[in-house]
Formats: sequence, structure tokens, C-alpha cells
Amino acid sequence: MNTNDINSIKSLLSAPKAIVIIPHKNPDGDAIGSTLGLYHYLKRYHHDITIIAPNDYPDFLKWMPGENTILKYDSQTQESERLIAQAVLIFTLDFNSLGRIGDMQTCVSNAKGIKIMIDHHQQPDDYATYMYSDVSMSSTCEMVYNFIEMLGDTNAIDSDIATCLYTGIMTDTGSFRFPSTTSATHHIIGELIKKGANNSEIHNNTYDTNSYERLQLLGCALSNLKVIPEYKTAYITLTQDELNTFNFKKGDTEGFVNYGLSLKGIIFAAIFIENNQEGIVKISLRSKGDFSVNELSRAHFSGGGHTNAAGGKSDLNLNDTIEKFISILPNYKKDLK
Ligand code: 5GP
Ligand code: MN
Repeated sequence: MNTNDINSIKSLLSAPKAIVIIPHKNPDGDAIGSTLGLYHYLKRYHHDITIIAPNDYPDFLKWMPGENTILKYDSQTQESERLIAQAVLIFTLDFNSLGRIGDMQTCVSNAKGIKIMIDHHQQPDDYATYMYSDVSMSSTCEMVYNFIEMLGDTNAIDSDIATCLYTGIMTDTGSFRFPSTTSATHHIIGELIKKGANNSEIHNNTYDTNSYERLQLLGCALSNLKVIPEYKTAYITLTQDELNTFNFKKGDTEGFVNYGLSLKGIIFAAIFIENNQEGIVKISLRSKGDFSVNELSRAHFSGGGHTNAAGGKSDLNLNDTIEKFISILPNYKKDLK
């Protein structure tokens, strides 16, 4: 985003406008944190703003300030479509392709509003008038902070904005430990704490909300963990029956994939989760070092993401998906040996 872009956006934002902010489907902490952070910022200037998420998100994000104003397209479709059609500005946050918003895609791509993308995923599509895309960034929340800084307006960051941006940086960096975490990230985190983000409370609100059943489900996932030492790979499976046994709720499997990666010597971890309702197996992939799970997911599982964290899906049944997964490992022998 160059100075001209910033000046154009400044002038667009100089008078109150109808604005819609959109995160990706199955929004995570960064998607909800960045959309809410931007929402609270723009609210200060009396814009008429609505965040519209394609669908619902986990309960562990439902403590965030302003969260209760978020519309869900899948259950509030008419109102969402009206607001999207009327919006003068449409911010799309934390995704790189309109395919990532599911059923909202047609409505958003037909919308006349000026589109502004803020995102850190690899290989972004070219659908937005203004694009702030930077794959080196830890999170979209860090980019929203930078965006406000580019507007010369960090003084406007209050505790609500700070809280939301802190949360997304925290969740997307695995609590500040992934390689995408830089000194600039820590500097911004320091500024957000100064502006009122209560770091300890945010960690508690997000991570210390386990239900007993979720821990039992984790136990099940860990007992299903398989290791393929010759490819430094570990994977977990969860069947729909197992999910049902432990009364699965959205978000319950968040972070499970990282347990595979915590094994000594393992650099590639996956989790395969059966979803009978959608007729797919949802896949999360993680890696350490240079091995790109974004490339593997794009090539084999209709997905994408980042070098070290990506997602995808499979239309095969769970067993066939695992068979396919194991059969492609030799293609990556060079990276995984
Ligand atoms: P997770 O495995 O936590 O769902 O996602 C890891 C990363 O990959 C996130 O940045 C997420 O946005 C991205 N991602 C997850 N699922 C998909 C998918 O189906 N397609 C694409 N393109 N990206 C995905
Ligand atoms: Mn993100």
C-alpha cells in the first residue's frame, strides 16, 4: 500500500460512510480480532459499520468487545446481503481469495462498494481496489495496527481496539512463538498493552475456557496420533463418531494439530477431522522450517495458507484421505528427510 493509496483511503474515510467488514469462513482469533479492531477504530469516526462473518465462530472468541454486533451471513442472509449491496466500502480481512468466504462469494463479488484487502496469506487474488498484502506479517491484526499507523492515527487506539488486536496477534503467533513473530510484533504488542490491552486477562479469556468434554476429546485425539518417523511426520484423525461422543462444539479441535509438531524430531503435522454434515474431511497442516504446507495443501487438498500453517479439505472418506496423504509423502522426501 503506497502513499497514494493511503491518501485515497484517508479521503474516503474523511466523512461517515456505510462500511462492511468481512472475515473468512470459520473465522479464527485473527479474523475476529482484526475485524473488531478495525470496527472499533472506524466507529470513532461515526461510520455506519457492520462486520459480517460467513458463519459462526468458537465460544472462546465470544468475550471480545463488540463481538455481539457481528452478523452471520449463513443465518442472517437477507440483512447481510442488503448491507453488502449498500456498502460504499468493503474491507476484507485475513483472507486472500473470495473463495474463502463460502456462500458470500457471489454477493461480495457483485457488490459495487470499493474493496480494501488487508491480509497476510500467500498468493493473494486480485479482487480489491486497494490491497495491503504482506505475507511476512505475523497476523492481520498486526497489519491493522500498521494500517492505523499509516493513517497517522495510533493516538486513536483505545483499549477496545488494543484488546481485539492483541488477541489476534496472540492466536496467530501461537502466543508469540512462531517464526513470523518479529521485534516489530513485540513492539506493537507493547504499544497495545500501553493502550489498555490486559494481556493476562486476554490469555485467560481465550485459552482457559476448556470444557471437560473438550479435554476428553483431546485425549481421544492424542491416542489416535500416528507417527511416520521416516518422513518426520505425525498425524491425528478424528471421526464424526468420536466428535459426537465428546459432544463436539465449534473450536474444540483448535490447536490439536500442534501436539503432533511438539514431538521431538517431527517437522510436519496434520489433523484430519471428519465432517459428515459437509461431506468432507477438514484438514489442518503445520510445519517447522522451510517445508511449505501452503504448497502441499494447494497441490493436494484444495487449500492454502502460510508456509508453516495451512488448511484444506478432502472429498474422499477419512480412510481414503489418510491413504492419499501417506501416498504423497514420498513426493516431499527431499524436504522431510
Ligand atoms: P487452520 O488449520 O487453523 O484452520 O488454518 C491454518 C491457516 O490456513 C489459516 O491461515 C487459514 O486461514 C488457512 N486455511 C485454513 N483452511 C483453509 C482452506 O480451506 N483454504 C485456504 N486457502 N486456506 C485455509
Ligand atoms: Mn491470520
